[in-house]
Amino acid sequence: ARAKALFGCAHANVQPHSGSQANQGVYLAFLEPGDKIMGLDLRSGGHLTHGSRVSVSGKWFQSISYEVDARSQRIDMDQVRRIALKERPRLIIAGGSAYSRQMDWAEFRRIADRVGAIFMADIAHVAGLVVAGVFPSPVEHAHVTTTTTHKTLRGPRGGMILSADAEIARRIDAAVFPGLQSGPLMHVVAAKAVALGEALKPAFRTYARAVVDNARVLCDRLSQGGLSVVSAGTDCHLGVIDLRPWELTGKAAETALEQIGITVNKNAVPGDGARPLVTSGIRVGSAACTTRGMGADEFREIGDMILATLGGIRSGTMNARTLKSIHEGVSDLTGRFPLPY
Ligand SMILES: *Cc1c(COP(=O)(O)O)cnc(C)c1O
Repeated sequence: ARAKALFGCAHANVQPHSGSQANQGVYLAFLEPGDKIMGLDLRSGGHLTHGSRVSVSGKWFQSISYEVDARSQRIDMDQVRRIALKERPRLIIAGGSAYSRQMDWAEFRRIADRVGAIFMADIAHVAGLVVAGVFPSPVEHAHVTTTTTHKTLRGPRGGMILSADAEIARRIDAAVFPGLQSGPLMHVVAAKAVALGEALKPAFRTYARAVVDNARVLCDRLSQGGLSVVSAGTDCHLGVIDLRPWELTGKAAETALEQIGITVNKNAVPGDGARPLVTSGIRVGSAACTTRGMGADEFREIGDMILATLGGIRSGTMNARTLKSIHEGVSDLTGRFPLPY
């Protein structure tokens, strides 16, 4: 009931053990092995479960992908339409893990309708922003919407599948159980209910707005400091940084930042030629530190610490003393904003 109220949908299956299993539930409900699916390419910010060769979604289905435009680094709906009309996929997937811009949900649906495809929106990352009204909701446009409950929704690890149509809901329910899972994880379902209860409170809207504001502040600071932000900014809680202009790998940057107490993850960037375990970018996010109460001043400070660290390894001037002093800055900041529980 809380999921339905928050997302404004008629049906919610809250049993998927994870976001990946939510997506698999949709595939099992609507596809046969060998069917064609179409999702955002991994290097453009898509998710493994959207047809990557290393995932069951790319092994058991014929997977084709669309990419971001090379110049704007945003999804180009003309390209999506062109590929869909040529390939006529059975399922079109929108959503991603490292894509920071709004998506044109309505146009995805129009394209899906033109080729007779099912349109699945995967809002694993932005679900909390969606329910708070600070990011557009796909729920009224998509045949089916999947999400995790542990990213910006700030709940336990888990997944959910949302739909408006009773026949779709029936197929989804049967795909999740007995198709894919057996016993539900009721302790996790209980925790989902708690998280959704928190998200229904007015304070969650304030939080979500701050999450987006803070991500923008952080991205602005990094780009003022000379780093290249993919698509030149963000509409959500995350930013993807292209390190190629600084001749750093994502792996080296992740390791260096870990040493000063800042956790980011290495991430492929559009057109990335580096191996998947190395990459040429990092992904930064504002959700956790915003929960701790940090605001614009602190996110500028975080940006400066990232710039100092990456600048130091880029120029070869980084030494143990500098690392230690930046690390102390991080400890001082986190000491001022302790974990809330
Ligand atoms: C994280 C993510 C998933 C998978 O969620 P898990 O719970 O880790 O399986 C699926 N889709 C997108 C877009 C994601 O970002």
